[in-house]
Amino acid sequence: MSVEAYHNYGKVYLVGAGPGDPELITVKGARILSEADTIVYDRLANPELLSMTSEKSEHIYVGKRPDKPSVSQEQINHILVTKAGEGKTIARLKGGDPFVFGRGGEECEVLRSKEIPYEVVPGISSSLAAPAYAGIPVTHRKVARSFTVVTGHTIKNTETFTNWEHLVHSDTLVVLMGTRSLPQITEKLIKHGKDPQTPVGIVEKASYSSQRTTLGTLGTIVDEATDISSPGTIVIGELAAKSHELAWFQTEDAKETTVSNSRLRTQFVG
Ligand code: SAH
Repeated sequence: MSVEAYHNYGKVYLVGAGPGDPELITVKGARILSEADTIVYDRLANPELLSMTSEKSEHIYVGKRPDKPSVSQEQINHILVTKAGEGKTIARLKGGDPFVFGRGGEECEVLRSKEIPYEVVPGISSSLAAPAYAGIPVTHRKVARSFTVVTGHTIKNTETFTNWEHLVHSDTLVVLMGTRSLPQITEKLIKHGKDPQTPVGIVEKASYSSQRTTLGTLGTIVDEATDISSPGTIVIGELAAKSHELAWFQTEDAKETTVSNSRLRTQFVG
């Protein structure tokens, strides 16, 4: 049956919220937020973005909640399908880009199977924004002509899933959801031949005023990054060291920051 047969269905927009700073949502994403009847949003989408929505809109939080079971993907799918069935226009707001480790593909599959119309509005993924906000270009002429984005989430459990032989040859390796597995990631890369002197940067809370960057090498970063908070992105490769030179983002606590050799907070005292 065609989509037209279900014209009473609303439409679901999977909207990328960007990495944190509300100004990093796209113009299209902001327009859809202002027009939507229902906003279904994640933990990593900055809640400040809700101020862009219509006063009449309904807001449904589907991220992790302290002391409560998290909302399952099935429940999220159910909410999208039910609201669309009520004829609502839904903005499904996701951190970064909806198709980069955001389960956007799974949600589209469900919507497609029900013949519910949808659109995807790409967002600025933290895999690009976190390095950019730390002054780490992911490519650079003559130094890095490629970058690879992987998840560190499954590393502990599914050892065989990760193609380490391939990863050690990435010019710039960006690891999302990897801060908890940092010891395993560094160990595996070194074991598979990556130079322990390879620079590493960990960028926490990129584009928020609390952003922090920790710099080290594959061999030292585990000892240096002892109190990393979520969300954090790991950047591994020669270019990670560029942060020493190119960091530009000024955070609120810059004046209180001490800069040590091992732990560099990439803010400038104004
Ligand atoms: N779809 C998202 C990624 C979801 S996976 C995107 O495109 O950005 C969640 C991971 O993204 C986190 O574990 C972290 O590695 C990264 N991340 C998200 N927001 C971040 C931020 N503001 N700073 C640093 N890393 C971030």
